[in-house]
Amino acid sequence: MTGLRIVLLGPPGAGKGTHAKVLSRTHGILHISTGDILRSQIQAGTELGKRAKSFIDSGKLVPDDLVVEMIQDRLNRPDVQKGFILDGFPRTVEQAKALEAMLEASKTPLGVVLEFATSEAVIVNRLSGRRACPKCGTNYHIRNIPPKQEGICDLCGSALIQRKDDKPETIRERLKVYHEQTAPLIKFYKKRKTLRAVNGDLEIEPLQAELAKQLQTL
Ligand code: AMP
Repeated sequence: MTGLRIVLLGPPGAGKGTHAKVLSRTHGILHISTGDILRSQIQAGTELGKRAKSFIDSGKLVPDDLVVEMIQDRLNRPDVQKGFILDGFPRTVEQAKALEAMLEASKTPLGVVLEFATSEAVIVNRLSGRRACPKCGTNYHIRNIPPKQEGICDLCGSALIQRKDDKPETIRERLKVYHEQTAPLIKFYKKRKTLRAVNGDLEIEPLQAELAKQLQTL
C-alpha cells in the first residue's frame, strides 16, 4: 500500500471527508483535505484565509491559482512520499492539469481516482444535518452520526457548529458549482483510465467495505 496516491472525487456531502479519515486510519495513508486546510487558514487569520473566506462562505470555488499553490506547497513536504489521499482537490480541470504536471515532475503518478456517485436527495440530507467540530474537524450528522452528547465533539469536547456553507441556499450553490466545474473531471480521469466509481449513497460501513475492496485490487 506504500506510495499509493488516491483522489476522492464527488459532490459535497458524498462522504469524501468521512471516508478519507477512515482510509487514512485503516491504511495508514496521509489525508490531505483542501477544505480543511482553507478553514484552518481562515481560523488562523492568514492572508490566504482572508482571500479565501468570501468564496467559501458563498459556496463558490476559491480561485485555482491560490489552491494550486497551496497544494503544491503541501505536496513538497516529505511526509507525502508514502502516498496520500486528496480530498476536495482537484475541483476543476485546471487544477487536475496542474496536479498531473506536479506528479509527472516527481514521477509519482496517481494510483486511482475514486468517484463517489451520489444522488442529490442523499447529498442534501447529509449536508443539512451535518455538524462539524471547529477545533479538530470531526464531522457528525444529527441523525446518521450523532455525537454521544448533543452538540459536543466526542473527541475534543468543543461545541459543534453548522458550517456556514451547509445552509440550504449555499448547498444549492455548491451543487451547481460541482456540476459545472468539478463533474467534468469524471470524463478527464476516465480518459486516463484511473477512474473507478463507488456508490456514494451507501451508509458508512458498506461503503467502507466497498472502498477497501477497491483498494485491494489495485
Ligand atoms: P470542502 O470542505 O471540501 O467541502 O470545501 C469547502 C469549500 O472550500 C469549498 O466549497 C470551496 O469554497 C473551498 N475549496 C475546497 N477545496 C477547493 C478546491 N480544490 N478548489 C477551490 N475551492 C476549494
